[in-house]
Amino acid sequence: MAIAGKPNVGKSTLMNALVGARISAVSRRPQTTRDQIKGILTRPDCQIVFVDMPGLIRPRDRFNEYLLTQAAQALESVDLLYHLIEPDDSRPLDEATAPLIERLACPKFLLVNKMDRFGPKEITEPHEAIAPKFDEVFRISALTGAGLPQLIERTVARLPVHLPYYDSDDLTDRNARFLAAEIVREKLFELTAQEVPYSIATIVDEFTERADQKHFVRVLIFVERQSQKKLVVGTGGQLLKKVGELARADIEALLDHPVYLELWVKVKPNWRKDEAELRRLGYSMKR
Ligand code: GDP
Ligand code: MG
Repeated sequence: MAIAGKPNVGKSTLMNALVGARISAVSRRPQTTRDQIKGILTRPDCQIVFVDMPGLIRPRDRFNEYLLTQAAQALESVDLLYHLIEPDDSRPLDEATAPLIERLACPKFLLVNKMDRFGPKEITEPHEAIAPKFDEVFRISALTGAGLPQLIERTVARLPVHLPYYDSDDLTDRNARFLAAEIVREKLFELTAQEVPYSIATIVDEFTERADQKHFVRVLIFVERQSQKKLVVGTGGQLLKKVGELARADIEALLDHPVYLELWVKVKPNWRKDEAELRRLGYSMKR
């Protein structure tokens, strides 16, 4: 089942709350989640596989086109859809998303998220106009957990019966390499400003697990311009150092093992617009 909605509505936060582990990059900036990440919730009676969708944005360049293709592909195979909106969004369904959602035959839930920020009187119900397009409507807070038990109950009731797809102790089907690169990118997103976050791609260059000493992880950080490299490194290397400290702590928690994290910043002009470059960075356009 898929979790869709505009960038920044709280999709990753919701998935993490549902799965009970921090596996998807969460950020105050839109479009942190550039790839599909699956979260798997296993209970004695059922297993739910969540797909956290990349933010749906109309394509302006090859990279955004890639994101939208990913989203459309993911939606084709889902058993149930959550569409997240914010309580004060005056345009809760845009031209890019509406047709994708309307085409789906599966049950669709509209989730009004971030209810903790609004008193009952403050809610202008802009979503009432689109509510008829959905099978059920829930008011939730991914942050506080309000409304989530009811949501899970209704989800279980609506999902088709199926043998488990994954082992019960799998939290995600993405491997640790991918998650390590995502964690570094998340920290960069939080600590850099303006257009810089959107020009960053991260890949794991080396990932060596060592039982008797720290795991060795080298992450390459790609930016588009020399000026951005300066900003990412920071004065006297301060910013990169901070990114490294925060990311290392998260990666260690993920792997449950001490980690030596090495970060390299490289300039790759126009990687966002170059299809061959996108493929090399791991963002492949599957057709
Ligand atoms: P995504 O882009 O849809 O995946 O959104 P994220 O999960 O990254 O969340 C974007 C921002 O909204 C983060 O700062 C979250 O902490 C915040 N957020 C998510 N859910 C809630 C919520 O229920 N209440 C409040 N107040 N903030 C939330
Ligand atoms: Mg996200």
